[in-house]
Amino acid sequence: MLSKFTKIDEEFICENCGYKVTKLGYSCRNHCPKCLYSKHVDINPGDRAEKCHGMLEPIGVEIDSKKGYVIVHKCKKCGKIRKNKAAEDDNLDLIIKLGSDPDWQFLKTGGRS
Ligand SMILES: [Zn+2]
Ligand SMILES: [Zn+2]
Repeated sequence: MLSKFTKIDEEFICENCGYKVTKLGYSCRNHCPKCLYSKHVDINPGDRAEKCHGMLEPIGVEIDSKKGYVIVHKCKKCGKIRKNKAAEDDNLDLIIKLGSDPDWQFLKTGGRS
């Protein structure tokens, strides 16, 4: 099947925890399912056009009514905020743990109490 969108779904070794991340299959894998770290390589999801290549640290979770869990990442190098939909095999315990962190609550409510 050809698509207008370039999606690169490939195996990679997580640079944070060393876990060998396998292909996702149905979508482009962009973060580690174990520690949820990602890498700043995309401008648009899956395009690998970003030159920064900094580590993206998971700093929050948003609950999207359509997409489900959306992990909020912050780049350790350039400080950019990225949002990535959680994958089916992501570490849900970690997502829930981080999502229940009081420091993260503002992310879910859009900035203020
Ligand atoms: Zn990892
Ligand atoms: Zn960056």
